[in-house]
Amino acid sequence: MILERLVVGPLEENTYIIADEASGQAIVVDPGDEPDRIIDIIKHKNLQVHSVICTHTHFDHVGAAGDIKKATGAKILIHKNDLQVYETAKDQAAFWGYDIDDIPGPDGFIDEGHVIEAGNLKFKVLHTPGHSPGGICLYGEGILMSGDTIFRGSVGRTDFPGGSMEELKKSFRRLLDLPQDTKIYSGHGPETTVGMEKKTNFFVNEFL
Ligand SMILES: [Zn+2]
Ligand SMILES: [Zn+2]
Repeated sequence: MILERLVVGPLEENTYIIADEASGQAIVVDPGDEPDRIIDIIKHKNLQVHSVICTHTHFDHVGAAGDIKKATGAKILIHKNDLQVYETAKDQAAFWGYDIDDIPGPDGFIDEGHVIEAGNLKFKVLHTPGHSPGGICLYGEGILMSGDTIFRGSVGRTDFPGGSMEELKKSFRRLLDLPQDTKIYSGHGPETTVGMEKKTNFFVNEFL
């Protein structure tokens, strides 16, 4: 498995390129900004990107989705409960003092139980609301792409529109029930594991 992490944009968001090495079939998770850097890697490694998966649609995670779609023909997939958030991505960026290009509408919706494939790789979609109503994680191949639901040592904010502390608690518990050695790649900051978060996450006492 090829797994590339790029830290992009003013909010230092993690964009991931995940590919099956044998076939070159790939997905891009949360292309937030700096599309040229992302596209360079895709071209350099000769990958075929069929889907852009948004763990949620805050602007720092979708800002370059349109550029990746244009360059690769990939479909942009989001959870339907994040559609409204997606459609206001430009306004969110403006609120933070940034300007992003217009993003084309999503090409499809993903939901709990769907399986995303890239060649021989398979990832299950887990609906994990809380940080945003349509937050999802991808789980498979021993890894979890957790978006802004859980970070090393912390969790995502719940004070944006559609956020919910109660939902986030449920999602957090659910993720920490995954196998201990599952590697977590989150939307911001370094990687971790489920076992490590069970021991050290600041929110364990409050949420479990
Ligand atoms: Zn977010
Ligand atoms: Zn974020």
